[in-house]
Amino acid sequence: MKLVTFDQGRIGIVDGERVIDITDLAGAEPGTWPPVGMVRLIADWQARSPALHDAVTRRESRPLAEARLEAPVQWPNKIIAFPANYHAHIDEMKHGSGSGVISTYKASGQGFFLKANSSLSGPADDIVLPPLAGREIHHECELGVVIGRRGRGVTRADARDYVFGFTCLLDMVVRGKEERVMRKSFDTFCPTGPWITTADEIADFDNIEMRLFVNGEERQSASTRNLIVDIPEMIAMSSAVMTLEPGDIIASGTPAGVGPVEDGDVLEIVIDGVGSMTLDVRQGELGMHAVWDEAKAGLAV
Ligand code: MN
Repeated sequence: MKLVTFDQGRIGIVDGERVIDITDLAGAEPGTWPPVGMVRLIADWQARSPALHDAVTRRESRPLAEARLEAPVQWPNKIIAFPANYHAHIDEMKHGSGSGVISTYKASGQGFFLKANSSLSGPADDIVLPPLAGREIHHECELGVVIGRRGRGVTRADARDYVFGFTCLLDMVVRGKEERVMRKSFDTFCPTGPWITTADEIADFDNIEMRLFVNGEERQSASTRNLIVDIPEMIAMSSAVMTLEPGDIIASGTPAGVGPVEDGDVLEIVIDGVGSMTLDVRQGELGMHAVWDEAKAGLAV
């Protein structure tokens, strides 16, 4: 099943080129704050999903193209993100900076970081670049894993049961040496969507292929089989530290091929079996601060 958030907090099921509005069945309240409709649906999934399956066969649908799609999960408890999770990406960052990233720097030994929830945006939103002179802002193509159940201390063996579904995710970042959370948390620096594809549609978590195109040119391509920390281990590691909640998002880490984006660029992310979305990049006006002024654009993760 493919679940969308659209038109200011409505919830829908995607059926080909059409969408079935299930806002009422999801218990969502469009237009209200905080926008927790999808989080509630995920938390109540066991109780609510039979009625949703029934709705697919009985309800009217309307063209998906007429809906304005939003970030599928708008108010997660947290976004957990893995750095340095593909060997080839670690190599390119070492060569790109020349500043001696130690070879042991990888997700298996380094762990994860958090990205601000407010950086989430959706498939219809532009990626808005802060005007930081001399700085590169890079795309990182990633798989978003949406958590379905509350859990702490989840084992690898049980991890699959905690995955609700998957979504496309871009981890945008200003390269530099400032705190990573700040460099990765500008508004619109975490596009997600176009929907959540539920886990039952993905046969093999270790064989998910993803690609990223910039202005039609392929820049990144990878499979989850090449992850250093795989999906079960991401769940085991993060839940060793913190309680996972329904709707939490885990960003998988990016493969090789990261690079700068500029005003007017068009990014397309494609994840086989999950979905695809095309995003416009534009220059914004907010983001300047003295913290960015010093020349420390060397390394970067
Ligand atoms: Mn990343």
